[in-house]
This record gives sequence, C-alpha cells and structure tokens, in this order.
Amino acid sequence: MTDPHLTKKEKNTVFAGASSVILGWTAFSLQGFVALLVLGLGISGQSSHVRVQGAAVRLFIGATALLFVSGISYLLLFYRVKCRRCGFALLRNPKGLGPTDLVTNPSSPKARGFSAWGYQMVEVVRRHKIRCLKCGEEYKLA
Ligand SMILES: [Zn+2]
Repeated sequence: MTDPHLTKKEKNTVFAGASSVILGWTAFSLQGFVALLVLGLGISGQSSHVRVQGAAVRLFIGATALLFVSGISYLLLFYRVKCRRCGFALLRNPKGLGPTDLVTNPSSPKARGFSAWGYQMVEVVRRHKIRCLKCGEEYKLA
C-alpha cells in the first residue's frame, strides 16, 4: 500500500493545469455562443446591428485568445506532475496526447458528457482531488 502525496508545487501545477482546461472549455463554448448569436442575427435580417456585430467580433477574438492561452498553459503543465505509482502524467489527456490504447483504470468514474479525463479535470476544481487514469491511485490536493 502506497501513501502517495504530491508536493505543494505539484498540487499547484495540477490546479493550474485543470483550471486552464476548464478555461479553455469556457472559451470554446463562448465562441460557439457568439457564432450562434451572429448567425441568428444574420438569419433574422438584423445584420444592420453593426454595434452588436462589432461587440460579437471582439468577444469572439477574446475567446480565441483565451482558448489559445489556456491551451498553451495546459501544454506547458500537463507533463510536469507524474503519478507516484505508475509514472503516468496526471493531467495528460489520453484521447488527445496518447497513448490512445490506454485502458482507463476501472476505478476511474465517468460522468455523462465527460471523458474519464474530463471528469478528473472537473474533480480537481470541484473536490480538490485527482485520480490517475492509468493505475487509479487517488491524490488529495487540499
Ligand atoms: Zn498511476
């Protein structure tokens, strides 16, 4: 039985990494929202609302910048904290960054609409803990 614990610095890194993922999701949803808004205005023939369009464009650019920044900060952080037991990078998204054949540990819970990885990102922010996707070891971050 191991007694895994992360250093204060590693905990902060996990928080920062998971937060940038969630920030990225927010930015992505914002982009979708703005795109729908502009599309809706266009369809309803109110494209003369130049001021609304100007604001929408700025919002879209802002969201794109946010998505970019959060993506970069995630990429700079994800590999830094490794599982004490199996060495898997705790923030690594196996869907995007591999290994694609990773079999998620059965003890990793999933929620509707989230991958096992996405669920852990939410858990970090919501419950201050993270579970290794590979071996299922749980780390408390509080
Ligand atoms: Zn592990």
